[in-house]
Amino acid sequence: MSRISILDHDRCQPKKCHYTCIEYCPGVRMEEDTIVIDEKSKKPLISEELCSGCGICTNRCPFDAVSVINIPEALENPIHRYGQNMFELFHLPNVSDGSVVGILGPNGIGKSTIIRILSGELIPNLGNWEDNNDNDKKEDQTQEKWEKVIQHFKGSQMQSYFKNLSQGKSKVIHKPQMVDELPKFVKGNVETLLKGVDERGKFDEILENLDLENILSREIANLSGGELQRVAIAASVLRDGDFYYFDEPTSWLDVRQRLNAVKVIRSLAESGKSVMVIEHDLATLDAISDYVHVLYGQAGAYGVVSQMKGVRVGINAYINGFLKEENVRIRKQAIEFTVRPPTVEDEGEAISSYTALEKSYEGFSLEIDEGEIFHDEIVTAFGSNGIGKTTFAKILAEAEKPDKGKIKEKIDIAYKPQYIASDFDGRVEDFLYSFAPSYGSNIFKSEIMKPFSLEELLDKDVNELSGGELQRLAIATTLSKEAEIYLFDEPTAFLDVEQRLIAGRAIRKIIESKNAASLIIDHDIVFIDYISDRAMVFYGEPGLNGIATKPTDLRTSMNKFLKDLNITFRRDKETKRPRVNKLDSYLDRKQKEEGEYYYLKDK
Ligand code: ADP
Ligand code: ADP
Ligand code: MG
Repeated sequence: MSRISILDHDRCQPKKCHYTCIEYCPGVRMEEDTIVIDEKSKKPLISEELCSGCGICTNRCPFDAVSVINIPEALENPIHRYGQNMFELFHLPNVSDGSVVGILGPNGIGKSTIIRILSGELIPNLGNWEDNNDNDKKEDQTQEKWEKVIQHFKGSQMQSYFKNLSQGKSKVIHKPQMVDELPKFVKGNVETLLKGVDERGKFDEILENLDLENILSREIANLSGGELQRVAIAASVLRDGDFYYFDEPTSWLDVRQRLNAVKVIRSLAESGKSVMVIEHDLATLDAISDYVHVLYGQAGAYGVVSQMKGVRVGINAYINGFLKEENVRIRKQAIEFTVRPPTVEDEGEAISSYTALEKSYEGFSLEIDEGEIFHDEIVTAFGSNGIGKTTFAKILAEAEKPDKGKIKEKIDIAYKPQYIASDFDGRVEDFLYSFAPSYGSNIFKSEIMKPFSLEELLDKDVNELSGGELQRLAIATTLSKEAEIYLFDEPTAFLDVEQRLIAGRAIRKIIESKNAASLIIDHDIVFIDYISDRAMVFYGEPGLNGIATKPTDLRTSMNKFLKDLNITFRRDKETKRPRVNKLDSYLDRKQKEEGEYYYLKDK
């Protein structure tokens, strides 16, 4: 049987279109109740029995909210379905003692749903959404639901997993995605919190590995994003569980901290625990996982968990856009990386230049080498947290005055800060009216609205957007301004792999069309590799003093940066993506000897 209409509830905006789907549905015209309005949500409900899958509503819907999809025969029994015409999930990933299993897939494809199921927060309904009755939490009903699940998985590894879970015999630890919200639930200082959960007696070790000694006495409410993330990881690792789930453990962390997180999380698996990690930073996912599952399907409509694959093969399949075992194409084109550093052409005229700069705050001082930024280029800036990157951005944007030195030409800067305020009172559309000058223009529609999929967000309240949605809105708004330099502070946080690359391409297109330039601060090496023309490196002692090199070619920058970190990267033979070398492996030693931390010597 082919399958029928799915309605993406996030996109559907009946208030705006006045039920175009109902107006055009041939079934409704023949006076059949093919589409009716749901009393509660006021959104359309498409009858699974009456819908013929003609596709007319799909074409008419202005928001791309309805899709008629053919789900392959083999995918007839979902693990969970949220409701009629709602998202459904097929298959579950494997859990494996002593291993880290990575989950790779776009936003809206079911990753959080999987974690909610495996942690026992959501009892899967096996597609029988009529059974859903979230208000009804009677003990016997719960047992009945679990029985069905256990029965369903009879004979597989998951049978005993759910049996133990439902009987409270296994303990699940879950690090949530949005660590920014932690201060709402946890009060007090870091030391009290972490001592209180130290069931494995590893307080000192984890503290050292995650570099938390200096912030022990700090109140949770006063921590930065990266500090919250490390505290959240520490709190999970210190507890004694059987299964550990980490939902995006690296947002806000710098490269060194990402690798420390990899070490700490991997140590759980090495002591026999079962670990699962959702991650969009491909270099981190690669270093942390033993195996991966790729999630595919249609975001908002259905998600399928692939078979378990070795980590290299799985990530390569994702990059190539084709899953061999499943025989599914998940993207039209492969993502392409270049083996050689981008050639810095005859640079032409500088769009901005500055003399050597100095800036001090109490306890922190920053020195910046004289430098310049050219038209049409993307310069990335990398280095530890607390080393002065944002301070430099602010000086360039003239939001801060340097103590010494000056910006030589006065230029307009459009700036996306690292932490995005979501306290705007109103809808996304109102926000765009107020803050996106080119909103409504054709260029905005084709070069910004479309790549960042803003159409589906227009009617939503800004303060209810997810982290990724807010990020898309903030990048888009910045790009809609007239400026000479577009400055982005950590634009990849909460975006999935695809969205990161789309954002990179949109930024490139806009700056080239305006003969402008962009400065991007980020920690995702694969992303940096994909978008940089040149780079600047910030080094020194985080929180004490920072030194910034002038923008220079990527080979020189990467060598400087990685030498300080004592890590080397190699290129995957097949896809050319950068991969971290194991410390002291043959390649690691060889590359260090040659002084090539990132690009291999030409043969
Ligand atoms: P991911 O973590 O991959 O971004 P999620 O598992 O959070 O994806 O969500 C997958 C889909 O399920 C989304 O389209 C989301 O809107 C939908 N969804 C999530 N929770 C619910 C719910 N409680 N009721 C209805 N739909 C939901
Ligand atoms: P990065 O962007 O590299 O993480 P920042 O430029 O934000 O680093 O900060 C560098 C250092 O300067 C940090 O130690 C930070 O606490 C300090 N700092 C930043 N802004 C101020 C300020 N307005 N007053 C005092 N100290 C500040
Ligand atoms: Mg999620």
